[in-house]
Amino acid sequence: MRARTGIVPTVNSETTNHVRFHTPMKFNQGNSVSKPEALGCGDAPADITASDGKLNTCGSLAGLSESSIVAGRQLNCPSCLGDGLEVFYEARRIPVQVCVTMGSRQEALDHPCRDLALGYCRACGFITNVLFEEGIVCKGGLYEDQQTFSPFFRNFQIDVTRQLVERYGIRDKDVVEIGCGKGDFLHELCKAGDNRGLGIDPLSGTNENTNNSRMVRFVADYFGPDHAKEPCDLLSCRHTLEHIRPVSDFLTLVRSTIGDRPDTLVYFEVPDTMRVMRERAFWDIYYDHCSYFTSGSFARLFRSRGFDVINLARRFGEQYLLLFARPTRQPTSAVLPQESDFEEMTLEVAAFGNAVSQRVAYWRNLLLDAHRQGRRIAIWGSGSKCVGFLSTVGMADVIDRVIDVNPRRHGRFLPGLGCPISAPEELIGAPPDVVIVMNPVYQVEIRERLAQMGVTPEILTI
Ligand SMILES: [Zn+2]
Repeated sequence: MRARTGIVPTVNSETTNHVRFHTPMKFNQGNSVSKPEALGCGDAPADITASDGKLNTCGSLAGLSESSIVAGRQLNCPSCLGDGLEVFYEARRIPVQVCVTMGSRQEALDHPCRDLALGYCRACGFITNVLFEEGIVCKGGLYEDQQTFSPFFRNFQIDVTRQLVERYGIRDKDVVEIGCGKGDFLHELCKAGDNRGLGIDPLSGTNENTNNSRMVRFVADYFGPDHAKEPCDLLSCRHTLEHIRPVSDFLTLVRSTIGDRPDTLVYFEVPDTMRVMRERAFWDIYYDHCSYFTSGSFARLFRSRGFDVINLARRFGEQYLLLFARPTRQPTSAVLPQESDFEEMTLEVAAFGNAVSQRVAYWRNLLLDAHRQGRRIAIWGSGSKCVGFLSTVGMADVIDRVIDVNPRRHGRFLPGLGCPISAPEELIGAPPDVVIVMNPVYQVEIRERLAQMGVTPEILTI
């Protein structure tokens, strides 16, 4: 959900220097385009009655039609490196970046869109977008995914830092965070435990927190072997691994960077894909998320790369997976009960495609009915779920407003969709009849905010 940094799937860490992150800033540097620019999503005619849309769900692991995007491709698993990937879900022409916003509607409509196809590995349970290409140029986008404007998210972040300090003893320690973004988490952790922090992120040199703390420093760089010399009691990597396609290579690099420091704690955080499968949450599937984990596949990857997974947890409304591990000399075996999710995941994956088709049809009918009745529809939350939802349902034209509490997003436009983003206060002058909440975890604070403004719409959640 927090699409902060992507990774260039280019390396075998034994033979090259760095696993590189690509960032939206890099996209904005005007580099030459190595491949033909994709059509913008906005190039498609707006047919709000269409029932076929851009979705092509396969419904069965073995049931791909000849028209499938990936028919005939050899598909290898980037996690276990086997050849057991089978495609089970496809979506056509979705925005390649979900967290950028654009300065004009036309720029937003010109945002590149590509096809996505999720492959499931029958050997290890890993899911990947087999069509993922790194480095697609997105012009004019501003990357903004800061969630700390929400009290709910702030509390979640504080809970995690408290757990690291109190349960795992990260106090007066050296913390390295890969893909630290604006450094909110690192600052919080260093403040809570009187720790010393190093944030590694190509964008970190541009963030406003760089000089605000003696305890935290930032390096505007890609993570690589050079960072092995940094003191590191905790290595943290949050909402970054889902942007990396060669996940096995990346974990090999992380393990070699830690080296012979067995007491180093490793903390990773990613979206939980079991929840996405169970809830048929098609809005949580993004082009720039190329890797999808459950508890089991997450742990299997770490164990295969020389880690012992000591704790797995779900937090943030069960949406995030938290993994705590220590380095070992050898691969380790599964011991935690949460790792035994393979059979359930296989069943969920098999049912996902048809169930999503029904879900998309439900939302199309609901939006179309409301639109025909002249009801004003607002969406609350302009981030990745909103872009994922609208680009799959394909009815952005019937949305009256898209609301966000993050002031940096106001007045900007959704990639691939062209919808403008408004401040909550703009609802006062033109109250909506329906508000669709993009993330249920924020429902309470959204209800409170609407009540404070005297706005009383029907509230729905996806
Ligand atoms: Zn695999």
